[in-house]
Amino acid sequence: MSDIQGKVVIITGASSGIGEATAKELASKGAILVLAARREDRLKQLQEEIQNGGGQAIYKVTDVTSNEQMEELAEFTLKSFGKIDVLVNNAGVMPHSFLYKKEIDDWNKMIDVNIKGVLYGIAAVLPSMRERKEGHIINVSSVAGHVVGAGSTVYASTKHAVRAISEGLRKEELINNIRSTIISPGAVTSELIEGVTDPDLVPVIEKLYEMAIGADSIARAIAFAMEEPADVAINEMIIRPTRQE
Ligand code: NDP
Repeated sequence: MSDIQGKVVIITGASSGIGEATAKELASKGAILVLAARREDRLKQLQEEIQNGGGQAIYKVTDVTSNEQMEELAEFTLKSFGKIDVLVNNAGVMPHSFLYKKEIDDWNKMIDVNIKGVLYGIAAVLPSMRERKEGHIINVSSVAGHVVGAGSTVYASTKHAVRAISEGLRKEELINNIRSTIISPGAVTSELIEGVTDPDLVPVIEKLYEMAIGADSIARAIAFAMEEPADVAINEMIIRPTRQE
C-alpha cells in the first residue's frame, strides 16, 4: 500500500495545470483531497472526475490572498476529515514584465498570490500539524526560484521567497516532525503563460514553452516526496525539460 493512501491533502490552485494533475495523481494513489482555487466550475468538474474514478475529493472555493479564506479552508478540512496530513501550496501567477514598465498591479498580484498565499497556507495548517507532531508542507517554487531572467524579476523574487520560506519552515518545525518540500518546476504546459501579455516577452515565453513538459511530471515528483517514510524529508526537487537551459 502506498504511503499516500488515506492521507488528507489540501491542494491550492487545483483548478488547472500542476494542481489539477497533482490531484489526479494523488487520488489514483488513495489520497483524500481538498481542492481549492477560485473557479468553482473547474473544481466541481475535477471533483466529479476523481469521484467517478473511485477517488475521494471535496472542494472549497478559496482565494489564497485572503488569510481568512485560508483559515476557513483549513477548518473545513479538519471538520470534514479530522486532520490535515499535507498542504500543497501550489497556486501561483506569472504576469512577467520589465521593471521600467512599472506594472505595479501585477507586482502586487504576484506578491499577494505567490508569497502571501503561501504564508497564509502555512499559518492555517501549522496549528493542527504542530499538535499532532506530524505533517508535510509542499511549496511550489520554480526554476525562477534559482535564476532570474530579464522580465521575470518580480516573479523570480516571489519564487526565491518561496524557497526561503520553505527553508525557514523546515528549520522551525523539524522538531515537530513537519516536513517541508520545495518543488521547482521548469517549463510545464499549463495556463500559467496566459498571464504573460507584454508583447516584448510573449515571443520569448512561447519559444521557451515549445519544449514544455507535462504537468503530470510535477505531480509524480510531489507524489514521490509524499511517499517517503515520515522520517525522510525530500527538501527540494527541480524538474525541468531535459533541453531547458
Ligand atoms: P495554472 O495557471 O494552470 O494554475 C495556477 C493555479 O493557481 C490555478 O488553479 C488558479 O486557479 C490558481 N490561482 C491563481 N490565483 C489564485 C488565487 N488568488 N487564489 C487561489 N488560487 C489561485 O499554472 P500552473 O499549474 O503552471 O502553476 C502552478 C504553480 O506552478 C504556480 O505556483 C506556478 O508559479 C508554478 N510553476 C509553474 C511553471 C510552469 O511552467 N507552468 C514553472 C514553474 C513554476 P483559479 O484561477 O481558479 O483561482
